Amino acid sequence: LARNLPEGSVAVLDQEMEQRHHRQLDLELALRELDDSGLELVYQPKCLADGKVLGFEALLRWQHPRLGAVSPAEFIPLAERTGLMHRLTDFVLEQVCRQLQRWQGEGCRLLPVAINLSALDIVRPDIVHRLGETLARHHIPPALVEIEITETGLIRDERLAVENAQALRERGFALLIDDFGTGYSSLSKLNEFPVSAIKIDRSFIADLPGQEKKALIVKSILSLSRVLGCATVAEGVETREQLDFLTALGCTAYQGYYFHRPLPATTAGGLLERQPGPAPGEALMSPQPA
Ligand code: C2E
Ligand code: MG
Ligand code: MG
Ligand code: MG
Repeated sequence: LARNLPEGSVAVLDQEMEQRHHRQLDLELALRELDDSGLELVYQPKCLADGKVLGFEALLRWQHPRLGAVSPAEFIPLAERTGLMHRLTDFVLEQVCRQLQRWQGEGCRLLPVAINLSALDIVRPDIVHRLGETLARHHIPPALVEIEITETGLIRDERLAVENAQALRERGFALLIDDFGTGYSSLSKLNEFPVSAIKIDRSFIADLPGQEKKALIVKSILSLSRVLGCATVAEGVETREQLDFLTALGCTAYQGYYFHRPLPATTAGGLLERQPGPAPGEALMSPQPA
């Protein structure tokens, strides 16, 4: 490659590679030193076609004093590579539980919040216990916390992944397959998992309704989900045309900028109904006797 490049390009390439390498090291170090102060969750609503909010997805944001805002697309894979993922997941879980409690305290009628588990989390031997323990500590019922996991995550270490997924379902957590269509799960594999909903990846939604091939793929994902008896959530819905197309095909729920961007917790809380009735605590579990 280098031989065919004009003189001087090699140096530029070298420099680019070095810069990229430097950034990786920088980020890794920052990630290792990370206390929770730079991390924050935003909440993106999941909606019905008419805009009614069904729940939220919690998405992690990292703001570093020197490196600025780092995208999860960059730091999540890095955290996975460097063995730091479980710390981020535990943080997310803890924050979501606290947020649900906060909203409860403000008199909100609570809706489910989904958290993303990485492929590494779903094969954590302690993940089922961790989720159960954290929710119990905050008196949150599993029905209020949903779990999103990618196809790739589910087939990585099949046995443990299946076992954990089943255990989570038995404990009352909904299980959503994230970014569906981009991984390589076989239909028979999918059938082994107790799937609550399939989330159609944004890449298929983006070119609707014009792109005929993508439209066909979306149609077949929707009929697949009917066969599996699960719901379908379309990711990345940005236009009215996309929404109308998906609605006509019987999609269950929608997430995307057309409805809402990921929102700060206070804004998201503003979308929740206030309940005039019973005292706060109703939707939460009563404390377990010790
Ligand atoms: P994801 O779980 O598929 O989340 C959806 C991503 O699409 C989010 O990007 C969201 O902001 C973006 N999005 C939503 N609606 C639209 C839309 O209409 N148009 C466009 N262009 N984008 C839209 P985000 O927050 O940057 O997260 C990217 C990915 O990083 C997530 O994809 C997820 O895989 C990962 N991630 C984020 N937070 C966490 C986390 O707490 N834990 C783990 N394990 N992964 C996370
Ligand atoms: Mg997700
Ligand atoms: Mg997704
Ligand atoms: Mg996605």
